[in-house]
Amino acid sequence: MKTFAKLLLGLVVFIFSICTLDTSKTEAATTFKDISTNHPAFDEIAFLAQGKITSGDENGYFKPRQNVTRAEFAAMVGRALNLDGTKKKTKFKDVGSGNFASGYIQSAVDKKIISGYSDGSFKPNGLVTRGEMAIMISRAFGYEFNNTTSGAAKAITSRGIDTTQADGTFAAERQAVREETAIFIARAIDYTMRLNNPSVSFSSERYVTSSTLNVRKGPSTNYNVVKVLKYKEKVTLGYQVGNWVLIKADDNTIGFVSTDYLSTSNPTSSGDNPGDTSGGKSLASQVLVIDPGHGGTDPGKVGFGLKEKDIVLNTSLLLKKLLIQTPLNVKYTRETDVTLDLVKDRVPYALSVKGNTFVSIHANGGGGTGSETYYWGKVSKAATNPYVSDSKMLAEFIQKRLVVALDTRDRGIKHGDFHVIRENQMPAVLVELAFMDTKADSEKLNSPVYRQKAAEAIYLGILDYYKAKGFDVAPYYDVV
Ligand SMILES: [Zn+2]
Repeated sequence: MKTFAKLLLGLVVFIFSICTLDTSKTEAATTFKDISTNHPAFDEIAFLAQGKITSGDENGYFKPRQNVTRAEFAAMVGRALNLDGTKKKTKFKDVGSGNFASGYIQSAVDKKIISGYSDGSFKPNGLVTRGEMAIMISRAFGYEFNNTTSGAAKAITSRGIDTTQADGTFAAERQAVREETAIFIARAIDYTMRLNNPSVSFSSERYVTSSTLNVRKGPSTNYNVVKVLKYKEKVTLGYQVGNWVLIKADDNTIGFVSTDYLSTSNPTSSGDNPGDTSGGKSLASQVLVIDPGHGGTDPGKVGFGLKEKDIVLNTSLLLKKLLIQTPLNVKYTRETDVTLDLVKDRVPYALSVKGNTFVSIHANGGGGTGSETYYWGKVSKAATNPYVSDSKMLAEFIQKRLVVALDTRDRGIKHGDFHVIRENQMPAVLVELAFMDTKADSEKLNSPVYRQKAAEAIYLGILDYYKAKGFDVAPYYDVV
């Protein structure tokens, strides 16, 4: 019986592979002159070619046995994660802005995927080894690897991305060839190509926030659409590839979507009113977290006898008087002059109350003038806030309202490396109202009239954002 079951399973797997291979192979069979459908890495190479992660030479050859330079491999990983590949200056003395891979190399440095050598070089023309590939892949895809080559080799083999070699070792020192780099990257992205019955666990529910959302075969818009999700549809998450994530839909379709259009909150939950003629979502389903900066023993910036902690708390309490008139569920990290820990008391609180949106309120210092709003603007590994485009949108709306209301210099919206926006897992911004230590700015911050204007501006900016996200906010503009 056992043998029979095994045989049956084998047959099913065999038939299944024939079917899937057939369709993908006809589709991409003509991609490279030297890669026939029988090539052992055909699927992997075709997958990366569709995603424009790798390409052949100008004559249409892939050259599967050719070595790969470190710069070429970095560029491929960069494309796989949709990193910014615009050529630029890098931190390495031997990678100038003219190098074709300089953008990907520096973007990968920013994401801590690449560190280079201790002498400050990257050796872009050095040939990449299997061990180096394993480390870069482990960092890029967030695998635990103990910062050692053997740990990275284990991360690769345990996932079925590659096996040990004929000599029983990982052959970490051996220079890799192009077909191997394709195998490593393609299987890291698409688990179905991995060896030994690959599987992935899907957990953490998310909901679609856009009217439609394309599920694709791979993590970029270069890949074919396999399904179209509708607004409010529920999915569960597998693993992240840059700013894209592998999801499973309710009908068990598996594919990649951009994280920008997923939310942790269920828009269909109690507060939503499906009978609403405006067709918008109800704000009652949303948890907004307001974070007045500093507090207690931490005064923040000071100037002209004023402390930032007092200015931002007062502004936040004025904002509360407005927000309380909406159905929004609003949480405050502090409502009094208490000391909060930057790391322990703000982001964890926002996550614990299941916030959907986070607004941190600060005032600036350092002698400049004007208002500015920060968001975490780097598409990155799972560890940092993935809601880049929504955060940027929220920042834009608040900033626009703020400079008009306060009549301050528009310093614009900016990517900012601040803990509360970087470590968050929801659209998050940090507002700098004006400068504590510049006279004209300080006079406004010290004025109850201007603080009211600031609160109203933030309030309207938040409404603008929710409006753009399809919520029914029209009745609440009258509050101010
Ligand atoms: Zn501050």
